[in-house]
Amino acid sequence: MAPLLKNIVIAGGGTAGWMTAAALSSLLGPDKLSITLIESEEIGSIGVGEATIPDIINFNHLLGIDEADFIRETNATFKLGIEFIDWGRKGDRYIHPFSGHGVDMNGYDFHQYWLRSRAAGNPHPIDEYSLCAVAARQGRFTHPDPNPRAILSHIRYAYHFDASLYARYLRGYAEKRGVRRVEGKIRLVGQAPETGRITHLDLEDGRSVQGEFFFDCSGFRSLLLGQTLGVGHIDWSHWLPCNSAQAVPSAHSGPLTPYTRATAKTSGWQWRIPTQARTGNGHIYCRDFISDDEATAVLLFGLDGEALAAPRTIRFTAGHRQTFWEKNCIAIGLSAGFLEPLESTSIYLIQEGISRFISLFPDSTLPDVLRNEYNRHMRTEFEQVRDFIILHFKATERDDSPFWDYCRNMTIPDSLTHKIALFRQGGRAFRYEDELFSRPSWVAVFLGQNIVPDSCDPVIASLPANEVMASVESMRTAIVQAARQMPTHEDILKCYRKAGAA
Ligand SMILES: Cc1cc2nc3c(=O)[nH]c(=O)nc-3n(C[C@H](O)[C@H](O)[C@H](O)COP(=O)(O)OP(=O)(O)OC[C@H]3O[C@@H](n4cnc5c(N)ncnc54)[C@H](O)[C@@H]3O)c2cc1C
Repeated sequence: MAPLLKNIVIAGGGTAGWMTAAALSSLLGPDKLSITLIESEEIGSIGVGEATIPDIINFNHLLGIDEADFIRETNATFKLGIEFIDWGRKGDRYIHPFSGHGVDMNGYDFHQYWLRSRAAGNPHPIDEYSLCAVAARQGRFTHPDPNPRAILSHIRYAYHFDASLYARYLRGYAEKRGVRRVEGKIRLVGQAPETGRITHLDLEDGRSVQGEFFFDCSGFRSLLLGQTLGVGHIDWSHWLPCNSAQAVPSAHSGPLTPYTRATAKTSGWQWRIPTQARTGNGHIYCRDFISDDEATAVLLFGLDGEALAAPRTIRFTAGHRQTFWEKNCIAIGLSAGFLEPLESTSIYLIQEGISRFISLFPDSTLPDVLRNEYNRHMRTEFEQVRDFIILHFKATERDDSPFWDYCRNMTIPDSLTHKIALFRQGGRAFRYEDELFSRPSWVAVFLGQNIVPDSCDPVIASLPANEVMASVESMRTAIVQAARQMPTHEDILKCYRKAGAA
C-alpha cells in the first residue's frame, strides 16, 4: 500500500484556513498527520462572512463543538432564514425560511395545495405556512423538538456570528489538536521542476515550510492555485454582475432578529446581520451602475443603528477557479471562488470542500481519479448555488434602474431556464443530484419573486376548493400557535449569557 499523506500545509488563516485545520486535526491526530498553518496578521483576513446556513451545525457537530460555548465565544445569534425586501417588486417582502412549508399530503407537495387554495381566494402568502418564517417575524426562537411528530420538530436553524471570532475559536481548537501555526508572509511558492508540484513555501523572514500536500486558503489572492499553478478563473459576472461590497458594523437598534435581511437597492442590495455585539451591514453593488461614493451613501442611509466604523470596500468577481484541486494543492474558500453572499453559501462551500476532501482522502500517490472526482463535485456545487442566486436577480419586475433592467433582461444558464419553466408549468419543483437547496427553498424564492404558476398540479386542481382551503388553513393556525409558544430570541440569548457568566 502507498504511504499515507503525512505533512499538510495550509496557506492562510481566515475562516477557510482554520476550518480546514480544525476538521483535519479532529480527524487525524498529530501522530498520524502533521498540519502547519501559515498566516499573516499584517495581511489579515477578509473579516466578513457572518451569516450561515444550517449545514454549519453538522460541521460543528463533526468537530464535537459545544453549542453554548460556541455561541458565547463567537457572539453568535440564531438564524431561521433570510428576509428579502423589494426584490420582485418594490414593496415586496418574503422570507426564505430554513424549514419547509406546511406538510406534504397524499404524496403531493404542500405548495400544490397552497396554489390550489390561492386560486380559490386564500390571501395568505406561502411563508405564513413555514414555522421558521412565522417565528422569525415574531422574533422567536427555540431548538427543534426531538419528537418528529411535534410541530416544533420542523425548526431548522443556523447562526449569525463574528467571522473573526469564529476563526479565532477554531484556531484554539486546532492548536489544541497539534496544528502548528506559523506567523509570517509567504514570499515564494516553491515547486518541483519535474512535476510542478508544490514543495515548500518561503516566508519573507527567510524561513521555509516544506509540505507534501497544500491547501490554498489565501483568500482572493489565490496565491498557490491561481498565482503559482496558473489555474484560471471562470468569470460569471455576466450573470452575477455585482463586483463590490462595502461593509460596516452598526449599533443595535432594537431586539436581535433571528434572521438575515437582504434589501434590494437600485444597483445591488444591502445585508443586515445581527450578532450579539453589533449588527453587520454591507452594500453589495455593481460599479458599472453606481459609484463607490453613491454606494456608501446608500449603505449608511440604510442602517438602522449608528455606524461604528468607516465603511470598508471589498472588490470581487463572481465565479470560481477552473479546477479546485490541481497537482498537490486544493483551494478552499475565496481562493477557490466566490458567489454573491445573498444566500450565505460561502462558508457552506468551504465546508463542502473540506468534507469532500476527507471522503476522498488520498494516499501519497495522489491518484488522478480522486482529484477528478473532487473537481467534478465542487464544480457542480458551485453551479447549483449559482443558479439559485441568479434566480433572485432575474425574477424581478423592477424597472426603476439600469441595474434591474440589466438583470431582468440578462440571459441565464439553461439549467435555470429549465427550472423556471418547470415551475411555471403547474408548480413543479425538484431537488437535483443532492443539491444544497431543497424544493421548499426553490418554491420560497420562485413565489417570493412572483413566479406564480397559472395552475397547480391537475390532480390537486380537481379537489374541492373548500376542503383544500380548510386543511391549508388548519396548518396555518397550528403553525401560528406553535410559534407563539416559543420563547423570544432575546430571552434565549440571555440564557446563554447567564450560563456563561455563572
Ligand atoms: C462582501 C462579502 C460578504 C460575505 N458574506 C458572507 C456570509 O454572510 N456568509 C458566508 O458564508 N460567507 C460570506 N462571505 C464569504 C466569506 O467571507 C469567506 O468565504 C470566508 O471568510 C473565507 O475567507 P478565506 O478564509 O477564504 O479568505 P480570507 O479571510 O481573506 O483569509 C485569507 C488568509 O490568507 C492569509 N494570507 C494571504 N496572503 C498571504 C501571504 N502572502 N502570506 C501569509 N498569509 C497570507 C491572510 O492573512 C488570511 O489569513 C462574504 C464575502 C464577502 C466578500
